[in-house]
Formats: sequence, C-alpha cells, structure tokens
Amino acid sequence: MKSHIAYISGGSNIGNGLLNCKNGIAALTESGACVLKNQSRFYKTEPVDYKNQRWFVNFAVKIETALNPFQLLNKLKSIERDAGRTYDSVRFGPRILDLDIIMYDDIVINSSVLMVPHPRMHKRRFVLRSVCDIDQKIVHPVLKKNMKQLLDELNDKKQGMVRCQ
Ligand code: AMP
Repeated sequence: MKSHIAYISGGSNIGNGLLNCKNGIAALTESGACVLKNQSRFYKTEPVDYKNQRWFVNFAVKIETALNPFQLLNKLKSIERDAGRTYDSVRFGPRILDLDIIMYDDIVINSSVLMVPHPRMHKRRFVLRSVCDIDQKIVHPVLKKNMKQLLDELNDKKQGMVRCQ
C-alpha cells in the first residue's frame, strides 16, 4: 500500500497539557495507522484568536501513513474524542486535545470538512516553529515558501512561546 507523509500539529490547554499531548502522540502510533517519523519539541504558547484562556502546550509530528487525508482526519477526531474532547465549546477556546493536519504530501484540498495545507498554518508561530524543529526546508505547496521563510516573515507581534521543561 502506498504510504504518505503528513505533518500533524497538536495542542492542549485543559488539565495536564504536556501529558495530554504525549498521550495523543502515543495514540496516533498505537492505532497502527501511523508511523512516527519525527517530533518537534513541546512548547508553551500564548493563546491566539481567543485570548481569555490558559496557555497551550503545542507540538508537531511528522508521520507516515497509508490513510488518505479524510481517513486521517477521522482518525485524529476519534483520538480527540477518546481523550475526552467535546465539541460544544467556544471556537478557538480551551481544548483537552486538538490535532490538525498541517500538510499531507504536497496535496491541496479545499473541501468543507478538510483544508490542506491547514488554512491558518502560515499565520501561527506555534505551528511554524514546531514544524521547523522537524524540517525547515519543506515547502508550502501553495505559498511556495519553506517553513523557515514563513516563520521569518511572520508578522504576529511575537506570540508568547517558551520551550517546555
Ligand atoms: P478544530 O476546532 O481545530 O478541531 O477543527 C474543527 C474542524 O475543522 C474539524 O472538524 C475539521 O472538519 C475542520 N478542518 C478543516 N481543515 C482541517 C485540517 N487541516 N485539520 C483538522 N481539521 C480540519
């Protein structure tokens, strides 16, 4: 079966954020659906969009998978649900575990349920910083710039971000 490379961004700001993130990564690999190829550092990050909430713990992983992008999205949603995530809260608000597809090979998808590359990835320091930990040279298939360029050009008034531990 053909395998694909995807980058997943994850975060948590309810309960023990670091543990929730580590459990999320373990769930991805234990499911047998994904092989973990590389992992970023963990960061504590200031909330963007909806500010009135705790700082997040964020990370990114590079995985290899035979799932197609929609199957992968369903897998991420089921891992979020197993972690205790409910979907009745404020948009961009607190969450026990959030897993997003950042890129999938160099595929571009614009459907109502899935957009790849993730539509806000190039605006988010926590995504670009953590993907840069893994590979600074991968190129955004629409913007045609690599992760390091996107991070250097980011104009976000410097989202607060510190390494965990
Ligand atoms: P979130 O609040 O980040 O969990 O995202 C909510 C919804 O965004 C999901 O239920 C997906 O249908 C949709 N979505 C669109 N593009 C993506 C993506 N690249 N990764 C994850 N979710 C996505």
